[in-house]
Amino acid sequence: MTRRRWIAEHWDEATATLVGAQAEHMARVLRAQKGMEADVVAGGHVFHAEVVAVSLAGEQSEVRFNLIAELEADPAMPITLALAIYKFDHIEWAMEKATELGVAAIAPTIARRTDKHLAQAAEKRVERWRRIAYEAAKQARRSDVPVIHDPVPLAARVKAASDATRIVLAEQERTTTLRHALDEIDAAAGTEMPSIEIAIGPEGGWAPAEEALFDSSGWRAVTLGPRILRAETAAIAALAVVASYLE
Ligand code: SAM
Repeated sequence: MTRRRWIAEHWDEATATLVGAQAEHMARVLRAQKGMEADVVAGGHVFHAEVVAVSLAGEQSEVRFNLIAELEADPAMPITLALAIYKFDHIEWAMEKATELGVAAIAPTIARRTDKHLAQAAEKRVERWRRIAYEAAKQARRSDVPVIHDPVPLAARVKAASDATRIVLAEQERTTTLRHALDEIDAAAGTEMPSIEIAIGPEGGWAPAEEALFDSSGWRAVTLGPRILRAETAAIAALAVVASYLE
């Protein structure tokens, strides 16, 4: 049987602590008590741990663990998903699934075809996106939580300096498949695959000026095939292709 995994808010070399909602859930619903065993993620490492103290006090609830032994855990895939903002329920689904699939980071971007009111509301939504990533990371038994960047205009993301190999999913691209681009990146990389950033457009697709900007900023345009996918489908399909390549 697999033990549940908890992501600690505080930790030191020997102990880790859950606070607030997680602690309350563990104490109230799962009736945590001294001696209970769990897997706890502390500072990106996973430990077999034992509960040593429980205090149930609403938002101030705490569950403290002694860390017994570090366990092996898979690192995140070195992928950043630059996701253009469109309908929040759709991108939130994409964020959850991308976290399950193992992305290291998600960068929400405001594209030309992002609805104005969504662009304005995005900043206030980030905390919710971080919670979604946190819950999905826990559910997927990850040892880390992907970074959710603050939303920025697409141009800032496209032009920002980066060590990653940068790929844009473009429904107009006809020739270069994602798989083909990965083969080329791999061949050029030597022993270690570089980190990869993948940009996905909004519901209405990229505006021509954005395609030109990607091109002039050194991003590689790729296709996922002849069918037009919803952006969230494109995100998951692309991550599955990269995962099958890297893992
Ligand atoms: N403008 C398109 C249309 O209505 O014909 C739809 C855009 S699509 C819903 C949203 C985004 O998903 C695109 O900007 C692209 O990043 C990605 N995408 C969808 N299908 C794709 C494909 N076959 N190849 C590459 N990217 C794709």
